[in-house]
Amino acid sequence: KAKETELNSYQFYERQMEESTSQRLAMVKELKHAIEHNEFELYYQPKVELASNLFVGAEALIRWNKNGAIIPPNTFIPVAEHSGLIVEIGKWAIETACAECAKWHQLGFARMTVAVNLSPVQFKRGNLPNHVFRALQKHQLDASMLELEITESLFIEDAVHVKQQIHTMAQKGVNFAIDDFGTGYSNLNYLANFNASTLKIDMSFVRNMLSNPQQQHIVNAIIKMSSAMGLVNVAEGIEDAETAAELKTQGCAYGQGYFWAPPLPCAEFLSRLQQQSA
Ligand code: C2E
Ligand code: MG
Ligand code: MG
Ligand code: MG
Repeated sequence: KAKETELNSYQFYERQMEESTSQRLAMVKELKHAIEHNEFELYYQPKVELASNLFVGAEALIRWNKNGAIIPPNTFIPVAEHSGLIVEIGKWAIETACAECAKWHQLGFARMTVAVNLSPVQFKRGNLPNHVFRALQKHQLDASMLELEITESLFIEDAVHVKQQIHTMAQKGVNFAIDDFGTGYSNLNYLANFNASTLKIDMSFVRNMLSNPQQQHIVNAIIKMSSAMGLVNVAEGIEDAETAAELKTQGCAYGQGYFWAPPLPCAEFLSRLQQQSA
């Protein structure tokens, strides 16, 4: 009897594995189709200067518009990374973000920056600095208007290779931000070593910091240490005015979150910019 159960659960496990493999393969196929048919879209979440409460930039967040259904990145980015398709998708994201940011500049929002998320896979395959320089050149966008978001997981990979590419781009004026800080190794030594200028405090510390003194202390410590190192802070996931005010008091310069806006389609982001300047 026990043997039978074991066998059954093994067969069950094997079937699950097969299913997830074939599901993954099906998604890879769909992602290729999506690349060819231009089904991706960038949404933009405003980055707000806490002192003035003004939009100073935006983070580009990818969406998959699949026959009208808007698919969030967490469902397909891992498959795109695993299959290598993220190189093509990421190239598209860099190019599109530069094009749209250049458009904001032409419309009079000349200081607006744009941030693009990078996957570690993009540093391993393809020529990332070339993609970035070509996109900036093509859209006549100043390198200092582009910020690339990387996570700490990148640093445990091929450090030398990664460092070289970041250095090449940073030398031309591209800014680097460490995303989701506090959830990974939180090794401040990395920051000094990797030309990062910005540190984004992960929303898991920010969202309930007012009701959780311990999280508030962590946020405070991150802001103090990173400021001392000359880094600029962006707090992610600010959902109310009180949290925004507290972060400002603590010395955090910028914030993002539903309190101001969720990620918006490009046209909506632009109309919010126009509203702001009116
Ligand atoms: P991330 O870069 O840390 O982006 C922040 C995520 O938090 C976004 O989710 C955003 O919609 C969400 N968020 C912003 N403010 C709030 C808030 O006040 N409350 C709450 N609850 N959530 C908030 P999203 O757009 O689903 O993106 C998830 C992740 O997918 C991103 O995390 C990023 O790591 C990845 N991603 C997005 N676009 C790209 C891309 O073009 N390339 C790559 N490689 N990864 C991307
Ligand atoms: Mg990000
Ligand atoms: Mg983040
Ligand atoms: Mg995140």
